[in-house]
Amino acid sequence: MKENSVFATIYENICRDTGKQNESAKLIAAVRLLTLSMLLHSLVCCVLVSIMGHVGALVFSMFSPVLFLAVFVLSYRWSTFVSYCILNICILFWSCLNIYYFGWNIGIQHFFVVLLVFVFFCKYKHEPAKIVYSVFLLLLRLFLYYYCRSNAPSTPLDDNLTNAMQTVNTFFIFLCLGLVAYLFSSSTQEMEGKLIEYNRKLMKQANTDTLTGLYNRRRTMEYLENLLKAAETQISICLCDIDHFKRVNDTYGHDVGDVVLKKISETFQKRLPPDTFISRWGGEEFLLIFPRLNGDEASTALETLRQKIREITFDGGFESFTISLTYGLVEYDYHSDITTLLKEADEKLYIGKEGGRDRIVF
Ligand code: GH3
Ligand code: MG
Ligand code: MG
Repeated sequence: MKENSVFATIYENICRDTGKQNESAKLIAAVRLLTLSMLLHSLVCCVLVSIMGHVGALVFSMFSPVLFLAVFVLSYRWSTFVSYCILNICILFWSCLNIYYFGWNIGIQHFFVVLLVFVFFCKYKHEPAKIVYSVFLLLLRLFLYYYCRSNAPSTPLDDNLTNAMQTVNTFFIFLCLGLVAYLFSSSTQEMEGKLIEYNRKLMKQANTDTLTGLYNRRRTMEYLENLLKAAETQISICLCDIDHFKRVNDTYGHDVGDVVLKKISETFQKRLPPDTFISRWGGEEFLLIFPRLNGDEASTALETLRQKIREITFDGGFESFTISLTYGLVEYDYHSDITTLLKEADEKLYIGKEGGRDRIVF
């Protein structure tokens, strides 16, 4: 807990605003983290050259921690843009001096790649300036390479120290690149994740009925159109309606009516074959689509359902009650259109209601 709060405080301070308006907290955090990495890098280099006993290299290296510490401290006073520019200049200047003193083989020139990535990730929209800066980095790197090919380093290092410096530089270049990439990609990924989740929720809202959680009429029409278009197996469709539901509302109240609708929906989901498409067609009417059952098979499934629903007792407050549904079932004949099929199912439902309700008409 304590450790967490220490990290939280450090992070808060690193992200702390520059006090100027319209500044990006992310960019200033990246500038400060990169400055701290460079500070650490230069301290490691100092230790390294001290261990190797190279006095000339140590005198030169001791200059860099002071430089990056100053940039870090001053970043709290400067604007983000100024801090960003000064850091760039310092890294460039520092890299060039290193190459001049110790040569090409210590690998410090790869910090140019860090700067190249950093310039394109940063929020400033000056695309032409970014391109000019990138070309400048490219030309400078090429110039330094050819300079080193024809000029010996002013402070040559032995093989061991060169290898050690190359290793340290490679580590810090990877660290800096990783930091920049992580900081600027994490928010994009987070936004993308949120957008996917938001779209999923929107899709769900657009396709389902809020009370029962069943598919709504819009989604059902979409499903039915696609299903009939690609019909390869037998398909049965049932339109069913709760009997005397108005009486339930009038006697026990609208809330109890809602409970009945929810319970019936759950029973559909529990008792019907798993691939049944169950939807609330409207009010107390439901449309059930059996994508692989013929009329007889669907009728058998519905009969089991009908009996299960009859067994449910609902709490009406002062008394308990049971309900029933009437079912109009049709089998797809491979050429009727949706309107004809639904009309036929509705007619059968009407016949069932007229015939005394609580029955399946096929
Ligand atoms: P029938 O057996 O002929 O179908 O009679 P019925 O009373 O079920 O049919 P009617 O069309 O007369 O009444 C349907 C009732 O369903 C009226 C309406 O208030 C109620 N209803 C529709 N949607 C909801 C809802 O979301 N919640 C509740 N509680 N009642 C609803
Ligand atoms: Mg009804
Ligand atoms: Mg009705």
